[in-house]
Amino acid sequence: MAISDYIGRFAPSPSGELHFGSLIAALGSYLQARALEGKWLVRIEDIDPPREVPGAAQTILRQLEHYGLHWDGEVLWQSQRHEAYRERLAWLREQGLSYYCTCTRARIQSVGGIYDGHCRELHLGPQNAALRLHQTHPVLNFHDGLRGNIVTNESLAREDFIIHRRDGLFAYNLAVVVDDHYQGVTEIVRGADLIEPTVRQISLYRHFGWAEPDYIHLPLALNQEGAKLSKQNHAPALSTGDPRPEIIRALQFLNQSIVNEWQDCSLESLLANAVANWSLPAVKDSQTLPGEL
Ligand code: GLU
Ligand code: ZN
Repeated sequence: MAISDYIGRFAPSPSGELHFGSLIAALGSYLQARALEGKWLVRIEDIDPPREVPGAAQTILRQLEHYGLHWDGEVLWQSQRHEAYRERLAWLREQGLSYYCTCTRARIQSVGGIYDGHCRELHLGPQNAALRLHQTHPVLNFHDGLRGNIVTNESLAREDFIIHRRDGLFAYNLAVVVDDHYQGVTEIVRGADLIEPTVRQISLYRHFGWAEPDYIHLPLALNQEGAKLSKQNHAPALSTGDPRPEIIRALQFLNQSIVNEWQDCSLESLLANAVANWSLPAVKDSQTLPGEL
C-alpha cells in the first residue's frame, strides 16, 4: 500500500502492556508514516528475557490492533535476529573496532561514571567480559525533526559503549541499529526518553558505513508527579474498551486540531481524519522541547 519510500516503525519492548505514553509513540510514528504514504512496521524488541513479562508481546500486538494501528508486513522479533547481531559483532572484531572489558560498575563509577577505555589495549578474552565498541566516530550533535540541532554530552558521545553484555545479551543500541537498517527504516519517531542513546546509534551507522535514518523525538507524557509514564512506575495499561477516547486524548497531547465531529465517528474514520490532518509543526508549537540532555 505504500506509495512513497518512507518507512517508519514502532519498536516496543515486551516488558509490559502499552500505556498512554507508549500510545503517543505508536500513534505519532503511525500518523507520520501514513501521512507521508509510507510503510509503518512493528518490531518486538525481545532481546532482554529477564525484563520480559510473559504474554506481553502478544498483548501489545492485540492492543495495537484494538486501537486500529495496523502495521505493514510481518512483525520482526529481535529474538529471531541473533545471527544478524553476531555477524555485526564479528565484523567489528575483524575491523579491530571492539574489545573485551572486565571493568566493574564500581570501577567505572570511581572514575566518574563514564567509561575511560581502561581495557582498550589489554587484549582481554571473552571470559566474564563485556564487549565494547572502540569509538572512532563520536557523534557530538544530530538533527531532530522537531527539536532542531541537539548537542549531546561530549564525554558520553566519546564513550566506548557496550555492544554485547557480560551476561551474553546483545545491547539495545546494537540490535536497534542492525534492525532499523535491515528493515530499511528511513525515519525513527519515538519518545524523547531515547534522545540520549541516539548519538550512540548514529555512531554505529557510521562505523558500519550505513545510511542514517532521520530522527524525531516526541514529547513524553508525564504523570501527576511529573515523572514519565513508564512500566516501571506502573502506568496503567491502555483501556480495553472503546479506543476512541484514548486516541483523542493522544491527539490532543500531540496538539493536533481535533474537529468536534470526529468524536462520533468510527475508529477507522477517526484515524483517517487524524492522518489527513496530521501536523508535525503543531506538535512542536505545543511544548517546550529542550534539546539538551
Ligand atoms: N524498545 C525500546 C523501548 O521500548 C524503543 C526502541 C526505539 O524506539 O528505538 O523503549
Ligand atoms: Zn574495562
